[in-house]
Amino acid sequence: MSDRAFATRAIHSGQQADPVTGAIIPPIYQSSTHVQDGIGGFRGGYEYNRAGNPTRDSLQTQLAALEGGVAALSFASGLAAEDALLRGILRPGDHVLLGNDVYGGTYRLLTTVLAPWGIATTTAELSDLDAVRAALRPETKIVWVETPSNPLLKIVDIAAVAEIAHAAGAAVVVDNTFASPALQQPLSLGADLVVHSTTKYLGGHSDVLGGAVVFGDDRFVEPVTFQQFAVGAVSAPLDAWLTTRGIKTLDVRVRRHSENALAIAEWAVDRPEFGEVYHPGLSSHPGHEIAARQMSGFGGMLSLGLAAGPEAARAFAESTELFQLAESLGGVESLIGYPPEMTHASVRGTALAVPENVVRLSVGIEDVADLIADLEQGLARIASR
Ligand code: PLP
Repeated sequence: MSDRAFATRAIHSGQQADPVTGAIIPPIYQSSTHVQDGIGGFRGGYEYNRAGNPTRDSLQTQLAALEGGVAALSFASGLAAEDALLRGILRPGDHVLLGNDVYGGTYRLLTTVLAPWGIATTTAELSDLDAVRAALRPETKIVWVETPSNPLLKIVDIAAVAEIAHAAGAAVVVDNTFASPALQQPLSLGADLVVHSTTKYLGGHSDVLGGAVVFGDDRFVEPVTFQQFAVGAVSAPLDAWLTTRGIKTLDVRVRRHSENALAIAEWAVDRPEFGEVYHPGLSSHPGHEIAARQMSGFGGMLSLGLAAGPEAARAFAESTELFQLAESLGGVESLIGYPPEMTHASVRGTALAVPENVVRLSVGIEDVADLIADLEQGLARIASR
């Protein structure tokens, strides 16, 4: 299957028809344990659901194929995946270099949960390669990249950062949640590991929580798999199955998300109500050229800075109708959020604080004229306050 194109792999990898009944969709193995043919006589290698489940395996095969990895693990959430990766690989005294515009929960995990166990974390502007070099330490084990980043859509040159990190003996992890493998495949650019909140574009329908780690080579497979088994933050069979179903339409969905987001970004740059439009598809975006090189589309995320300031941003986030006010992203329906008090509340007042005049849009796959009309009526509504 690895010689097939992306859209084909997304539909067929790990998705063989049921050998007994011919059901074209592999069943949901909603079972906590498996009968043994004598002690240790595991059928198909299955013993107990925390250690392995056929539905989870089918998703893991699909995830590895999408990212071009040697293996993948599926978890109960994106943060559970990040936690297993970090605790599987790191030891007390190790240092993590984190991009300065990553998802607030990643920063919180490292600085509040893992710091007391001896993991040091610092942040740097990873789009500045000199800043990357300066921030590396002898004890740096991981450089954590998120590109495009959440919520300011900064772009990091994955290949360039990987070269610098590898020369310093550090591994590169890319959080590929915003782009999805339909648009960007970090392992092929030199990253060592990929993480996902599969809750977002991979699931794609706002109906399931999940996370994934994908491995570029064998080095970290054993310790992270052991961490998953020993701690148990696995994805449940139904959740794994829903994610598998979502992935089959990933390619077409993400292309429509990208088209819609670019059209809205182009509309927004001409509106005086917005001081800043953050979207890597705009030629004015500082990371545009790198994004055009390492991505095959610019994604469905977009942030807007309201020229009138924070109060206008809060009011705008509460004034749209099709863009529903909610956390999360990557579903077929459009969402709007106010990061300083929602997704990024945990980094308010830190080095990762988001400008207070920013709203974030997760642009769905509705008709784009309807979406723009909705944003226009939101602007009219706040103007008439
Ligand atoms: N990474 C990114 C970029 C995210 O946006 C999120 C959640 O919003 C996560 C990781 C964490 O994923 P989850 O909410 O599935 O734990």
